[in-house]
Amino acid sequence: MNKKYTQAYKDAFIPTYAPLEAVFEKGTGAYLFDVDGKKYLDFAAGVAVSSMGHSNPILLKALHKQIDEVLHTSNIFMNKSAIELASLFKEKTFADKVFLCSSGLEANEAALKLARFYAFKKFGEQKNKIISFTNSFHGRSLFTVSVGGQPKYSQGFGDLPKDIVHAEFNNLDSVKKLIDENTCAIIVEPIQGEGGVIPATKEFLQGLRNLCDEFSVALIFDEVQTGIGRCGWLYAYEAYKVTPDLLTSAKGLGAGIAIGALLAKDEFASVFTAGTHGSTYGGNPLASAAGVVSLNYFSDPTNLYAIREKSDFIFQKLKNIQKKYSNLIFEIRGMGLLIGLDLNPEYKNAAEILQNKNFENGLLVLRAGTNTLRLAPPLTVNENDINSALQILQNSIEQTLEILESQ
Ligand SMILES: *Cc1c(COP(=O)(O)O)cnc(C)c1O
Repeated sequence: MNKKYTQAYKDAFIPTYAPLEAVFEKGTGAYLFDVDGKKYLDFAAGVAVSSMGHSNPILLKALHKQIDEVLHTSNIFMNKSAIELASLFKEKTFADKVFLCSSGLEANEAALKLARFYAFKKFGEQKNKIISFTNSFHGRSLFTVSVGGQPKYSQGFGDLPKDIVHAEFNNLDSVKKLIDENTCAIIVEPIQGEGGVIPATKEFLQGLRNLCDEFSVALIFDEVQTGIGRCGWLYAYEAYKVTPDLLTSAKGLGAGIAIGALLAKDEFASVFTAGTHGSTYGGNPLASAAGVVSLNYFSDPTNLYAIREKSDFIFQKLKNIQKKYSNLIFEIRGMGLLIGLDLNPEYKNAAEILQNKNFENGLLVLRAGTNTLRLAPPLTVNENDINSALQILQNSIEQTLEILESQ
């Protein structure tokens, strides 16, 4: 490893991350290359972002065209790419209206503000309780960490936004105990991503939909991680056959360019007027051009079908690996190409050790929850890449078990 870079990193960055020891300089398809020329299979995809793989020619062509035309104009004016993207969202999803921004947290912030504002305008200021779920993740602004279900992210930052309560994920009774006429929103990830790749059950999401209808509550799906083909559908709500009132999207939407979006039904969208919310970069032409490409690509039934086939292929193989190493891998879960390997909790730090071993062996993976290894490869990954990755994973598992058993 080139020491010059690691030292410069330590010298210059506020230490909010503890990155693994690779400095990347280029990528192609499912592969990344570091400054030493070492090659890695990328099953992290920049945390479920690089869904079209690295240097995807379709994406690059559209971006180059946009770069040559215009980069930024602001929302004081209109631009062609943003209008194209918003119209596409209307065509391909439940959305009547969209708000464009630059990240997942910003989309969630907009959704939560809109839900509160809608209830305020329509029912009065007492209706402002937000129900979220323990273990959930919605971003890092003070509002979204307060709504998120992991207190470690919100402690030490002063007074937090009020009237936010947490129910238990996949437990409808725990929601029934909290919901009342003063509840304005329920926000939920169809599959908890950062929390450990934990899918909601169909009954749970359907039950939330029914409760929201009964109590006039906005149902918000945070599909920042699960959206844009990640689960084998353009959005996971289609697989669950439960339509939210508001939906947030980011990560894979820009396929590597920062963008976020809030999708809304008309009823809710209409309470925001000029000035109630905004974002300088929202609907930026370059980001919108990326969104147009990914939305077109991942709403194409042929491409979605291919993702589901690859998903079946990898789940099958992972289940065989699990059988072989059942003392380490307790469960394989997830949907599409968002996959969690839940590890034996008795092996402390097993996920971290396994992630490091994979890294040494040239496979990039993520962690989630307390002891879960998370795989989120580019959605354009092919069967050869998958086979190579699983070979590395098996070797890494054996090396990890050696370490764990000698502890
Ligand atoms: C990553 C993520 C976010 C935050 O997105 P940022 O772009 O990092 O702000 C919010 N919700 C979910 C479900 C996520 O996975």
